[in-house]
Amino acid sequence: MKRFVIRERDTRESVVVCRKNIFSAELAPMRGELLGGGGILFTDSNVYALYKPLLEKYLGGVPVFVMPAGEAHKNEETLFKLLKGMQEAKLRRNSRLIALGGGVVGDVGGLAASLYMRGISCVQVPTTLLAQVDSSVGGKTAVDFGGVKNLIGAFSQPARVIADPLFLETLPRRELKCGLGEIVKHGALSAPLFETLTAAPDLFDLGFLAKIVPENIAFKASVVRRDPREKGLRRCLNLGHTTGHAIELCSDLSHGECVLWGLLFESRLAARHFDTDKAFSDALTSLCFRVLEGGERPPLDLRKALLDKKNTSSGAVTLAVPVAAGQFEILELPFARYEEEIGRIAEELC
Ligand code: ADP
Ligand code: ZN
Repeated sequence: MKRFVIRERDTRESVVVCRKNIFSAELAPMRGELLGGGGILFTDSNVYALYKPLLEKYLGGVPVFVMPAGEAHKNEETLFKLLKGMQEAKLRRNSRLIALGGGVVGDVGGLAASLYMRGISCVQVPTTLLAQVDSSVGGKTAVDFGGVKNLIGAFSQPARVIADPLFLETLPRRELKCGLGEIVKHGALSAPLFETLTAAPDLFDLGFLAKIVPENIAFKASVVRRDPREKGLRRCLNLGHTTGHAIELCSDLSHGECVLWGLLFESRLAARHFDTDKAFSDALTSLCFRVLEGGERPPLDLRKALLDKKNTSSGAVTLAVPVAAGQFEILELPFARYEEEIGRIAEELC
C-alpha cells in the first residue's frame, strides 16, 4: 500500500492512502465514531445514486448530506446548506466530515470542514480520476462566487485522503480524459512518470490507471510538501494552465482537455524562448494527442487569459513552460507578445 505524509509548516499532517478496496478497509472501522454527531458523509447526487448500497453497507446510520451534482452548484448556497446540515447532525469540534465525490464535492466539503467551529477534520474520498491525482491533494478548498471560480476558499489540508481505484470503474471516458490531462502534466514534470506514460499501450486502461494514481499523488504531494502555500515551486503545477484556462473560458472542452491543449501550446512557446529538448517535445505532443483522441479543437480568445488570477503583474503573462522531461522554465511575456505568439502557434496546431 502507498502511504504519503504531507506536513504543512510542520504542524498538521495529511495522510494519503491509495489501493483498491481501501475505501471499505478504512471507512468500516470508522463508522462507530461517526455515529451520534461524530461525523457526516457529504457527496453529490450522481455519486450517491451509484454508490448508495456500498455506502449503506459500510457507513449505514451515518448522516448523509447530498448536493446536486455539477460545478454550477459549487457556490455559497450549497456551502451554507451543508453547514446547516452539519449543525443539524450535531457535529462537534472533534467530529469528521467525509467528502466522497469528485473535485466539486472535495472543494465544498473541504471548505465547510475548515469553517465549521473554526475547523473540523476532513477525510477526502476522491471518486474521479481528476480528484484522485490532483484536487484532493494539496489542501485547496473553495466555492465559486459572483461568477468567479474559486473566489472564496481556504488552504486546509485534509486529515486523510483515501483514493480507491474502485470508483474509477463507473467514470465516463470523458472524465478519465479529464484526469489524464493532469497526469500528462505531472509526466512533463517528472521524468520517470513521463517514461511510464509514453510506454503505456493504453492510457485509458483502468488497471494501468490504478497503478499510476499513487505515483501521481506522490509527485503532487512532494511538490506541495515543499511549497504548501504556492510561493514558488508549486507554480510548476500550473504548467499548461495559463493557456488552458483561456481555452476553458471560450470552449466547451473539459478542464483536462484544456490543460492538454495548453501543454501543446506552451511547449511550442517554450521552444521559441529556451533551448528545449526536441525529442521530449515531440513525445509530449504525441502523448497529448493520444489522450485528446482527435476531439474538438479549441477556439481562442486569449484576452481572457488576462483574467487568470495567477498572473500577478498586470500587462504581463507569467507561465511555467515545459522544456525537457522533468524540467520547466518560468517565462514572462508582455500580454500582447504572448497573444501574438499563441496566435501563430494556433495556426500551426489547429
Ligand atoms: P471533477 O471532474 O473536478 O472531479 P466533479 O466533482 O464535478 O468534478 O465530477 C464530475 C462528474 O462526475 C460529476 O457529475 C460527478 O457527479 C460525477 N462523478 C464523480 N465520481 C464519479 C464516479 N466514481 N463515477 C461516475 N461519476 C462520478
Ligand atoms: Zn488543473
